[in-house]
Amino acid sequence: MDDTRSRQVLIAGAGIAGLTAALAFSERGYLVRLFEQAERIEAAGAGIQLSPNATRILRQLGVLERLLPAAVRPEAVVLRDAATLRELARVPLGEAAERRWQAPYLVAHRADLQGALMARLAEQPDISLVTGARVGGVVPGPHHVTAMAEIAGKTVEAGGFLLIGADGVWSKIRDLGALARSGSARNAASAAGASSRFSGELAWRATIDAESAAGEAFAAVGAANCVTTFLHPGFHMVAYPVSRGRAFNLAAFTAGETMAESWSGHADPNILAGAMRGTAAALARLVEDAGPWTAWPIHTVDQRQPWTTPAGIALIGDAAHAMTPFAAQGAAMAIEDAATLAGLVAASPADPAAALAAWEKMRRPRVAKVARRGALNRLAWHAVGPVAVARNLFLRLRSPEKLAADLDWLYGWNPDALQFRSSA
Ligand SMILES: Cc1cc2nc3c(=O)[nH]c(=O)nc-3n(C[C@H](O)[C@H](O)[C@H](O)COP(=O)(O)OP(=O)(O)OC[C@H]3O[C@@H](n4cnc5c(N)ncnc54)[C@H](O)[C@@H]3O)c2cc1C
Repeated sequence: MDDTRSRQVLIAGAGIAGLTAALAFSERGYLVRLFEQAERIEAAGAGIQLSPNATRILRQLGVLERLLPAAVRPEAVVLRDAATLRELARVPLGEAAERRWQAPYLVAHRADLQGALMARLAEQPDISLVTGARVGGVVPGPHHVTAMAEIAGKTVEAGGFLLIGADGVWSKIRDLGALARSGSARNAASAAGASSRFSGELAWRATIDAESAAGEAFAAVGAANCVTTFLHPGFHMVAYPVSRGRAFNLAAFTAGETMAESWSGHADPNILAGAMRGTAAALARLVEDAGPWTAWPIHTVDQRQPWTTPAGIALIGDAAHAMTPFAAQGAAMAIEDAATLAGLVAASPADPAAALAAWEKMRRPRVAKVARRGALNRLAWHAVGPVAVARNLFLRLRSPEKLAADLDWLYGWNPDALQFRSSA
């Protein structure tokens, strides 16, 4: 393999996972070609919570300093009963989070995160980003992998020692990786069909101007400088400030029917209204004033399928393990995936296949634990009757300090501790 190809990384998808991977590999001296099917890089959805395990990596990659001016550092995560609006629990964030986990807890508009990633990318001459380029084929070879990208009606081939599938929950690379492993289109199709599924949950999203009637309705029920989660049987809503506090991001979750394979769409608003039956009148008014709501079917990916192939394909982010957003960790896991993959590959230049296998083995337990935490949150937040009473009692007896300590394993996680940050 010639020297350029042995240092060439190909990435399909320029979402949070792909952009972070491009920066992480370029930081270690690799050449990166990043293919994005969309004509322009645009953020899907409105707000995002970035916990310290993610911001620590963004700081190392030179992204955090570009994000901070637009982001908000919330003072706390607050859980409230949606019927009474009573505060059930509070986890201190702000300076306390930074002291405890050595990196800030932030909330931001997704466009601001994407802008910060892109600004850093623009400074890296070794990253070439091609938009309007859909990766639709992969040919694995003994020492390198060839990706076929459709660009303006033409098929363009690109070779490298590694192809990273960062192409989201409906990943094409996941299907092509299955094909490369099985050697049969039929097996690949069945592997793909089994790997992504509708979770049964809809996310409803709205962004409200702080100065609007809905913004005032929000101020009446929540704290403008916190991440507030309102809990109710079969429904919860997360609300937090974005865009330096000029707007609030609202995300409500209900059961629902699946929709087309897209990030956003419209569903019957009566589903949301029905799920809110019994919540406080002020909260119901906020939800009414905040509309129209965009509905978002939550799909997950079966984590049991392989994330890497010995032929040099690796899946990261939602392509590998899309999870329900109830721990607010999908993007954080994508960021962790990207940084750790670059670290392990750089630490083992003579044997990338061994590095991929080691990376997958290292990532699986953590990603599975995070997904379990999300599932537990959902159960607890939608609890009914005696279970809800027990939850409230548990939360009342747990001090804010203890609630923060419960998150040390998640937010205190640090890739430096894995000792592979040697330069490529
Ligand atoms: C309601 C909701 C709230 C959430 N809140 C949070 C939160 O607060 N914190 C958090 O950490 N996570 C959160 N998440 C999860 C987070 O949004 C996702 O995990 C994250 O965006 C996944 O990023 P990704 O780059 O893996 O995938 P994507 O963002 O889907 O990016 C994939 C990219 O690949 C491109 N692409 C697809 N196919 C191809 C192809 N064949 N060739 C080239 N390009 C291709 C797509 O156009 C896209 O740009 C939330 C999710 C939801 C649904």
